[in-house]
Amino acid sequence: MDCGTHTRNSHGATWIFTLFMALLGVFCILFEPGFGHRLYALPALCCDLGLLVVVLLVADCAAPRLSKVLRLVLYVVLYAVALVDVACYVRLQSPITPIWVEVTLLTGWDEARETLTSYVTPALLLSRVGIVVGLMLLNVAACLWRERLCERLPRLSSRTKRVGGFAAVALWVACTCFSYEERVYMYYRVVRQYDELEVQQIRDFSPKAKYYLPVWRLAYSLSEVHQLRVTRLALEKGIGRAAVDSCDFTSPHIVLLIGESCNRRHTSLYGYDKQTTPHQCAMAQRGELVRFDDVVSSWNVTCESFQYMFSLYTAGDTPSIPEERRHWYDYPLFTELMKRAGYDNLFLSNQYVLSKGESISAYKEDVFLNSPRLSQAQFSRRNCERHTYDEGLIDDFRRLSDPAAPHTFTIFHFLGLHTQFRERYPEAWNHFKPADYPRTDLSEGQKTILAAYDNAMRYNDHVIARIVELFRNRDCIVLFVPDHGERIFDHGTEWGRNLSWEPDDVRPQFQIPFWIWASPTYRTRHADLWQCIRQSAHRRFSTDRLPHLLLHLAGLHTPYYRPSSDLLSPDYDEHRPRIIREERNYDRLVKNPPK
Ligand SMILES: [Zn+2]
Repeated sequence: MDCGTHTRNSHGATWIFTLFMALLGVFCILFEPGFGHRLYALPALCCDLGLLVVVLLVADCAAPRLSKVLRLVLYVVLYAVALVDVACYVRLQSPITPIWVEVTLLTGWDEARETLTSYVTPALLLSRVGIVVGLMLLNVAACLWRERLCERLPRLSSRTKRVGGFAAVALWVACTCFSYEERVYMYYRVVRQYDELEVQQIRDFSPKAKYYLPVWRLAYSLSEVHQLRVTRLALEKGIGRAAVDSCDFTSPHIVLLIGESCNRRHTSLYGYDKQTTPHQCAMAQRGELVRFDDVVSSWNVTCESFQYMFSLYTAGDTPSIPEERRHWYDYPLFTELMKRAGYDNLFLSNQYVLSKGESISAYKEDVFLNSPRLSQAQFSRRNCERHTYDEGLIDDFRRLSDPAAPHTFTIFHFLGLHTQFRERYPEAWNHFKPADYPRTDLSEGQKTILAAYDNAMRYNDHVIARIVELFRNRDCIVLFVPDHGERIFDHGTEWGRNLSWEPDDVRPQFQIPFWIWASPTYRTRHADLWQCIRQSAHRRFSTDRLPHLLLHLAGLHTPYYRPSSDLLSPDYDEHRPRIIREERNYDRLVKNPPK
């Protein structure tokens, strides 16, 4: 592009900018491994830089002053972000991340100064940070002596310029095509602020070089932190707004056991041929436990499933609710209502813990649990350490529970059967062996995974039985609900959760075991309620409506309670569509017609 002598100087500056930014980008790609495949990152760099160059060249012609300011701003931002990112990588073995940004935003000036003086030392210049500084100094020199440099460069013929220009455009087009998937993904994720699931709902993206540059890592981190803040602020704004009219404390002691990744077909309670849940079967045979036939989780992802289980929002509410109540976080959390009503709320989790002295959320998933204000609004006490095995939660219970509290609500949240199945149970529980599975379609390694899953289920049953025994002599009711199911070689040789809508993939991931146990005292004192529970066992249910059932069991009166979502209410709407992943009707998808 050439539009007159007055812009040649600007063009020279733009080409210097291009050269040094390309060098900076290549350096970050090569020397900060682990943030995208280099083979995909380099074309993505070419694509991004090419777009920037076109903008600058046009600005050179149309508004040289603006072009100058733009270049200066880009220099400052790109070098500053790269320096911080590389320094983090050298010092902390991690580049800029959402947690890092959140910590930085929460850090006061004095704390920041102390951190900077302890981390930024002259020795840092001897690391990779020194190379970025060196490149920056060379860049400054090239800009200062640009005219002299241009004089020394050989003059190119107009034919060479044309061929070079054509080659550059061809390379840019090729790189753009090659990294198209990455660019579209980034557009939705960073520009449109979609979360990972929303992006995957548009298309099954598989970007290989997502946040390959420091500036993209910063953009992604800022967008994540922004989203988290929106969620947290909406929830915090709602604290205290949810009214509790009165509470009958119908069930003085309520225990909610939240399992992890439980495939219903792998429980003997639901007819599995291996004895994975002998204790639950025995409880059912004794008439202490009511097994529900048709329950699905709203999500097959822990975080979202948890949010929908805690919020009084029900999937599919959107069209009939006023604009200000569109998201799960615009509704009260039932745990807050229970605490305000007077229950002593104990939250014992082997996944989400509030570490001692921690003032910020450690994970995106637990923002609504770990924000100090939200945690305080929902729970009376919590554990602050995870355990290798879920049995450790029983010690937490003994330490943290208040035996004198007249009304208690206790949540046990297991690590259960989460991905690394073999790590979920002690060696002594290695009961099922690969040889127990006469399946010719599975390899020895796959059978090992299958056996480990069943062993983890059996150990989970043991933990559940121990917890139930803690409450046998109280006026207590216990509910068991996993956050979602799991694919575990049910219909082929694959395992693990995915986002497929194939019925054979959906069923094992969403169809979950769900049961209610009651102590002898409870069954005697609340005979009518127990009868009602038994009669509801064949009703269709989904985990997003769990809070309304719990409000019924507590006898808690609030304007947010909806009988149509309460499994035990005579007005329960069994045929309300069960929307999964906030997108599709489960029953229509798996062809489960109304009975
Ligand atoms: Zn989960």
